[in-house]
Amino acid sequence: MKLKDKVAIVTGSASGIGKKIAEVFAREGAKVVIADLDKDDAQKTADEILANKGKAIAVKMDVTNESEVDKGVAEVIEKFGEIDILVSNAGIQHIDPIDKLSLQDWKKLLSIHLDGAFLTTRACLRSMYKSGRGGSVIYMGSVHSKEASPLKAPYVTAKHGLIGLCKVVAKEGAKYKVRANVICPGYVETPLVKKQIPQQAKDLGISEQDVINKVMLKDTVDHEFTTTDDVANVALFFAAFEDNALTGQSLVVSHGWFMQ
Ligand code: NAD
Repeated sequence: MKLKDKVAIVTGSASGIGKKIAEVFAREGAKVVIADLDKDDAQKTADEILANKGKAIAVKMDVTNESEVDKGVAEVIEKFGEIDILVSNAGIQHIDPIDKLSLQDWKKLLSIHLDGAFLTTRACLRSMYKSGRGGSVIYMGSVHSKEASPLKAPYVTAKHGLIGLCKVVAKEGAKYKVRANVICPGYVETPLVKKQIPQQAKDLGISEQDVINKVMLKDTVDHEFTTTDDVANVALFFAAFEDNALTGQSLVVSHGWFMQ
């Protein structure tokens, strides 16, 4: 077991990529915190993990809400002790050309991805610094942390921003043995992606199949979607890596879309 008795908070883990990461971490022995907007949805994921003999709790947490984040992290410390791993994963997508994009939609997306990453990082670093055990902070970036696509200005901006935050955490956290890294997945078939297929088809005036073949998977080496398992395995690798040799980095997992 690679994460035996480590305490891991995974934001946005009631669904999609975060849920799979929580399941894999629990399988590897971690005590997992399912932190998500809706407590009932979070509890369902926690219950599934518990049913598989894993250790998990659900915490209601809107990552954009300072007091909810601080309260949620305090609850975790009370229940499980100090925090070893944060996966800042909660996110949304928004599709619009810039000339039609409202300030409200821009701010909402940036807030979930960037305020959320900052607030959860700050709360968890306080615990990691104090415990002396070090820790691993993992940000859910995207190929869009490296590349741009039309219609996704706030998302591309936020995902690039996470790389900057990661590098600062790597530098500040080093003396406390806290590492920070970014995972950059290609397209993964989760609710977030399924929702944008018809939207993109409408905006680009093409069929949904063409959105998949000619937009989403166009630059992969094999026209395959990345899977939640692929991303969770990279998260496990970052989480289990023991020292500062691997910090401040971003790893693309995308079937070859965007090669560094
Ligand atoms: P998803 O919609 O399946 O899951 C997102 C989760 O985040 C949901 O459970 C949702 O409730 C939660 N969430 C949203 N706003 C929140 C908030 N304010 N506070 C707390 N939780 C909140 O999406 P997913 O595809 O699993 O996406 C997870 C992450 O992976 C996102 O950061 C996304 O940008 C990133 N990502 C996804 C893909 C992809 O193709 N699916 C590719 C690259 C990166």
